[in-house]
Amino acid sequence: MEPKNEGNKKKKGGHESKIQEKRWDKEIEIPIAQKWKDKKLYAFNKKSKKPVFSIDTPPPYVNTPVHIGQAATYVLMDMFARFRRMTGHNVVFPMGLDRNGLPIEMAAEKKFGIKLGEVSREKFIGMCKSVLEESSSATEESFFRLGISFNSWKRGNDVGDIYHTDSPEYRSLTQDSFIDLWNKGLIYEDNRINNFCPGCGTTIADAEVIYKDIPSKFNDIIFTVKETGEKIIIGTTRPELVCTCAMVIFNPKDDRYKSLEGKTAVTPIFGREVPLKAHPFAEMDKGTGLMMMCSAGDLTDIRFFREMKLEPVIAIGSNGLMNEHSGPLKGLTVRQARGKMIELLVEKKLLVKQKDTIHRTPVCERSKDPIEFISMKEFYLKQMESKGKMLELAKKLNFYSPKSRQIMIDWINSVSIDWPISRRRYYATEIPLWYCEKCKEPVLPPKGKYYQPWKDACPVDKCPKCGHNEMYGEDRVFDTWFDSSISPLYILKYSRDDEFFKRSSPCSVRPQGKEIIRTWLYYTVLKDYLLTGELIFRDAWINYHIVDDNGKKMSKSLGNIIDPQEIIKRYGAEPFRMWCAIEGNLEKTDFRCSFERIEGTQKTLTKLWNVARFVSMFPKTAKKPKLEPADQWILGEVDKLVRKARKCYEKYDFHTPATEIKHFIWETFASHYIEIVKTRAYNENSGFSKQEQESACYALNHSLEIILQILAPVNPFLTYRLYEELTGKDIHFTEFPKPDKEIENAKIPFSTEDIIEINSNIWKEKKDKGESLKSEIEKMELPKKFSVIGDDLKRMHNIRKLTFK
Ligand SMILES: [Zn+2]
Ligand SMILES: [Zn+2]
Repeated sequence: MEPKNEGNKKKKGGHESKIQEKRWDKEIEIPIAQKWKDKKLYAFNKKSKKPVFSIDTPPPYVNTPVHIGQAATYVLMDMFARFRRMTGHNVVFPMGLDRNGLPIEMAAEKKFGIKLGEVSREKFIGMCKSVLEESSSATEESFFRLGISFNSWKRGNDVGDIYHTDSPEYRSLTQDSFIDLWNKGLIYEDNRINNFCPGCGTTIADAEVIYKDIPSKFNDIIFTVKETGEKIIIGTTRPELVCTCAMVIFNPKDDRYKSLEGKTAVTPIFGREVPLKAHPFAEMDKGTGLMMMCSAGDLTDIRFFREMKLEPVIAIGSNGLMNEHSGPLKGLTVRQARGKMIELLVEKKLLVKQKDTIHRTPVCERSKDPIEFISMKEFYLKQMESKGKMLELAKKLNFYSPKSRQIMIDWINSVSIDWPISRRRYYATEIPLWYCEKCKEPVLPPKGKYYQPWKDACPVDKCPKCGHNEMYGEDRVFDTWFDSSISPLYILKYSRDDEFFKRSSPCSVRPQGKEIIRTWLYYTVLKDYLLTGELIFRDAWINYHIVDDNGKKMSKSLGNIIDPQEIIKRYGAEPFRMWCAIEGNLEKTDFRCSFERIEGTQKTLTKLWNVARFVSMFPKTAKKPKLEPADQWILGEVDKLVRKARKCYEKYDFHTPATEIKHFIWETFASHYIEIVKTRAYNENSGFSKQEQESACYALNHSLEIILQILAPVNPFLTYRLYEELTGKDIHFTEFPKPDKEIENAKIPFSTEDIIEINSNIWKEKKDKGESLKSEIEKMELPKKFSVIGDDLKRMHNIRKLTFK
């Protein structure tokens, strides 16, 4: 409908575009990114007095290529960083790489075809290191190509340098945090039932347990009532745990079993005598309504045993095999034991029937193995006594979007035991402890150094309790979350540079995924509060899941995964970045992605490029001229965008401004404003004065410059290039535009909608008559409010006689 305006043709009268390239080409991005990197333009300046804005970047695992979710998260974080630099902040934005823990160990086990424990610890660690060395610098390369403005591209110990969570510096801070928490009396060792993953071979925390529906068999088996000899039938999916049964229960409202209260049940095969009791835990309509309570069948059982103060019988050993408490099942895996137990029950005619069922089973979040419950001695960090404080901090923390807060609150409310922090693995931070050979007293080393007690000599030469001089080292390591939960302390130099930490904390923002609120966010807030007494973050930005165009989760089996490297290859970074901003609506729960959607944003970038080429034909005067009403109007529209962008960007909302700017470029600036002023800007035999021409040139340039500045955090390459051509300056080091009071107060008698309506009507009329848009209109009458831009409209629509009423 609207005419094509922004020409790239050379115009008579010396009007020539300053921007040579006819179109935006993705190849332009690479030398720009290289320049930023080589000149270290975004290095953190520790001497600067500007306020610090810090981003606790989520360290991605190194042995996997950057996936679409990480690419989008880092692009959005880069927008936070670039916006804050333009608002006068000294931004801490480091790249961290998580290299600790199970994923690395599992990769090593796979690569070398071994299991932990089959080779020496030293050798196993060597294998993990070789896996890490091979993991290419693909992660860094992807971030570089996406235009992420990390402070530094080298490893080191200065603020903003790339850090590795398995470095001696990082691990020593993890160990220091343990020593501090120990000295505060917040750590203890206890033998209790815990989640054990047979696949990972270690204890895991409740936070790492997820649920999966797994097909299973419901077995009705026969128990005997000791006092009466009567047979009772109990349904169970875990017959191998009969040996740990400590009580049989029925619902207090269940009339069928009232007479059993206070009697004794005898377990099949094992002949153990256990009490029969009414308890609301038993559901009347589940199975036969009778339930055997075993130590450690699932989390409910664990809670029941704690509540009833029953002594648990542990039948599964730390090697994952049935132990001496399981009689004939001893030495079998859990799965084998289940089969064997069914055989025995059939033999003794104690199995009534078997039925297929779906069992909601707790599984390990990482390896997806069903969890077992075994008793082990582990270190715990006290968290139960801080639940009230954690709820208070969860309410104080600013969540973006606020609805994510509830996930954290629900998790805190559900925490029922202290945090088990020790693990029986190798590639992780060692627990810095030695023990006296004689009196077993634990001995802590001094802080500030990285220790490997399984091979290092104890740095303390005498037992502080008995004076004996022989010690042996602890061989367990920490839960990975015990490492990850100090990331804001690490990047802000806690206990390494007190002055800087004091000046920079709390950390400004923790960006992270929703699925790790109960682990990464919760543990960080907890542990850093226990260490510093403060809430470590001001804001928490919680991002979405990326799904395909139909709202389906991306997965290998569906074949709908979009690889960021492919996006970069096809389109470069900028269309992807604009897509991230436009799609990034925090109020939604997912983020829809397809090549078509990304390609769609490319059109807007091309439009902006063309607009800039056109505008650059009309250099502005150094001094602001007296402005004409049409020019005041467009500057007023731009000012509204400035206000909106400032307000939204501070709340990590890039979606609203990016959407409005896109609309503004297409619908207002290019289609209407440029059409209105172009004759005046060219000013060739059109009868406008020099001041009127200067006003047009000023408004065209000023609007464009501000639009580029607002877009600079979103599209750093394209805006950098255009702004440099237009002004000779680096846009990323300009100040973010401020609201303009003078423009806001200017009285414009018409609205943007009015202008769009009037122009569209005139164009439509000409088109309907089969005329060209340039064709002459003999005479026309318009509402009076347009009289202030009468001269512009007259020339724009080629009206011979224009009147107003
Ligand atoms: Zn596991
Ligand atoms: Zn001693």
